[in-house]
Amino acid sequence: MKKNLPNNIAAICWHGGTEPPFSGKYNDFYEVGTYHCVSCDQLLFSSQCKYNSYSGWPSYFDADGELELIQDHSHGMIREEVKCAKCHVHLGHVFDDGPEPTGKRYCINSLVLNFKPECL
Ligand SMILES: [Zn+2]
Repeated sequence: MKKNLPNNIAAICWHGGTEPPFSGKYNDFYEVGTYHCVSCDQLLFSSQCKYNSYSGWPSYFDADGELELIQDHSHGMIREEVKCAKCHVHLGHVFDDGPEPTGKRYCINSLVLNFKPECL
């Protein structure tokens, strides 16, 4: 089931697009809460795993929800594509240059994330 998404979000979700670096609303954003899939609302990441990678995109060293990882050989690189395990929209890529303890860097587009502040 495809939700009606604005064109710039649909371009990422369904066509593997990437938002321009430093353009996303969650790039420089460190509120406490959780990040959910913009398409199906599934929990994906928590603010506890978010860090500044200076890449221009929201970065996490670990996931909180179910992700689907797919080998991506486009653009002459071997990367691992990150998708939502529930609705299979494209979220970003994961790299092996992240911080301890996982060594992973989940590089995710802000446009496919929906932040929910933690209820205190
Ligand atoms: Zn989803």
